[in-house]
Amino acid sequence: MMTKPTWFDTSIERTLLKHESPEDEQGYFVYQLDALKKHLAQLQQQDVIKLWFAVKANPLSTIIQTLDSEGFDFDVASSGELDQVLAQGIDPERILNTGPAKSKKQLEAFVKKGVRTFVVESLNQLNWLNEVITERELVDNDLQKPIVLLRVQLQWPDGEKNPLGGNSLTPFGLSVQEWKHIQVNDYPHLNICGLHIFQWGNMLSNEKMYSLWGKMVAPLTKLAVDIGMDLKVLDLGGGLGIDYLNEGKKLSWPQIIADLADIKVQAGVEELWLELGRFAVAECGYYVVPVVDRKMNYNQEQLVLAAGINHIIRPAITEQPFPVTLLRQSNEQKENFDIHGPLCTSMDKLGCLPLPKDTKVGDELVFGYCGAYGFTESMPFFLCHQLAAEYVIQNKKLIEVRAAKPASTYLA
Ligand SMILES: *Cc1c(COP(=O)(O)O)cnc(C)c1O
Repeated sequence: MMTKPTWFDTSIERTLLKHESPEDEQGYFVYQLDALKKHLAQLQQQDVIKLWFAVKANPLSTIIQTLDSEGFDFDVASSGELDQVLAQGIDPERILNTGPAKSKKQLEAFVKKGVRTFVVESLNQLNWLNEVITERELVDNDLQKPIVLLRVQLQWPDGEKNPLGGNSLTPFGLSVQEWKHIQVNDYPHLNICGLHIFQWGNMLSNEKMYSLWGKMVAPLTKLAVDIGMDLKVLDLGGGLGIDYLNEGKKLSWPQIIADLADIKVQAGVEELWLELGRFAVAECGYYVVPVVDRKMNYNQEQLVLAAGINHIIRPAITEQPFPVTLLRQSNEQKENFDIHGPLCTSMDKLGCLPLPKDTKVGDELVFGYCGAYGFTESMPFFLCHQLAAEYVIQNKKLIEVRAAKPASTYLA
């Protein structure tokens, strides 16, 4: 008997095998909410870190509701994400706004909708938020001062061992040198009480993670002193990794808690925040898609699927494929297949991955860890394919949350 990989929840196997719908023959997503809820409850078994959900990882309504039910608050980076979270009945006071493109107009709209926590990423954002609050105070006597965290982007001098691996410049936040131009006292309308830093990704080693976080403490606490800030909150973003490549690496959550308890003491802060994306939701999601063609080409087995990067683009832009399994049972040995999608560009490749030798046209493949950076990160419009349906499994039942949509619904 072929055994399924560890990332596959075998309790949903029969449900997926039984599912037949002509609309889903171009690929669909499934999120196992029962498993998600259990996982989130485990993450909350601690009192060291306040947990936010980075909505960009998966903004589906039922995913947001599940995070809400397990006490997560929400990090949004656009008006669309804000409206989606508010539409689930979430109190705006539980929403945090990050992102490099906050105009004064957007900041004003967020404040009007009741958002009270902001990670500011530029001097303009800081000044605009201050102006917005000053103006709103004239019309709203009860307006609370928003909590403001300054987003810091660190670089290490050439020649010094760089814990970040490199010094690539991004639009996220500002250098210590730039933030030093301000004094917190000059913004009496804002409660500037924290720092935010997040410039690493998909970390899979507890030791590396701890050492990296530790290196942030000295420069950040020094900056706080220099600008007259009483540093109460330290937000370390996300970046907790998922073992997409099946390297046998897995972060230990209890170790993360122990390490962060230590970082909290070192930084002398009252609150430590994380905004989890993939570490919260990746594991609960699957992408199911049929094989449309199989051929041998220059001694390489190739599969062509009904959908590829039009539904899941992440493998093509990160060179990290999502792991795959054949949905039906097969006792055949595995071999490596090049796995392609239907788009007329060589970019449309989901990896070179092992599958049973008898994988054939009409079989369904299941990709794992697709609960994060799947549906909304894709490029669904190219070549006029169908938008994927999204299902959840809740109380063991398969429920359609979003139906598949043909190109005629979005073409004009
Ligand atoms: C994307 C993002 C996250 C989540 O990142 P993951 O690696 O998925 O955990 C957290 N914080 C901010 C500001 C982000 O942009």
